[in-house]
Amino acid sequence: MKISPVMREYLGEIYRLEHSPDGAGVATSVLAERLEVSPSAVVRMLRRLDEAGMLTHVPYQDVNLTPQGEREAIRSIRRHRLLEVFLVKVMGFGWDEVHEQAHGLDLVITDEFEDRMDAVSGYPTHCPHGDPIPTKEGGIAEVNDQPLLEAPVGGSGVIRRVKTDDGEKLRYLAELGLVPGTPIRVLHRARFNGPLRLQAGKQEHVIGTELAQVMRVELTS
Ligand SMILES: [Zn+2]
Repeated sequence: MKISPVMREYLGEIYRLEHSPDGAGVATSVLAERLEVSPSAVVRMLRRLDEAGMLTHVPYQDVNLTPQGEREAIRSIRRHRLLEVFLVKVMGFGWDEVHEQAHGLDLVITDEFEDRMDAVSGYPTHCPHGDPIPTKEGGIAEVNDQPLLEAPVGGSGVIRRVKTDDGEKLRYLAELGLVPGTPIRVLHRARFNGPLRLQAGKQEHVIGTELAQVMRVELTS
């Protein structure tokens, strides 16, 4: 069976949920929300993908990608993240806008278009949000980061990923300069999940738990 771009997009989203650091698993409702379709459309597509040998799905239970499904998923993720970089670097979109823009383009561009985007964007290794871009061969770099909220007070590190599609949060973080690649130090954390005081370069910022929650850092000390 030929895998359509839409099918591949589902597989990519399932892979993303399977590997999500919060480990929430793959729920039909979450897939429906992420792909902006109805839950019944998700159920129908899961059946098709199961028949195509891309995954195994027991209704109301788990969804598991087969090795073949995983390969297709990684292709979809590569395309999506490359599109994000292209839209930011070449087309000048904000990092808060690109998930939405890329979502539609994922389905229509050709493989050659994808290769060109890769080249004109300078063969990027990470998307604007810090997620690794799989190689053409399907390899995917390991990420060694942890939730910012688990970093000790006094600890230093580098922001590696920002895990949200919430445009307002992304815009605010960009305003503060708290983006992937920025070195930070945790200066203070108020007790009982209170706000966090961070040093980023010469600046200090106080951010709330809700914002800190979406940030992942690689600790250096
Ligand atoms: Zn991204």
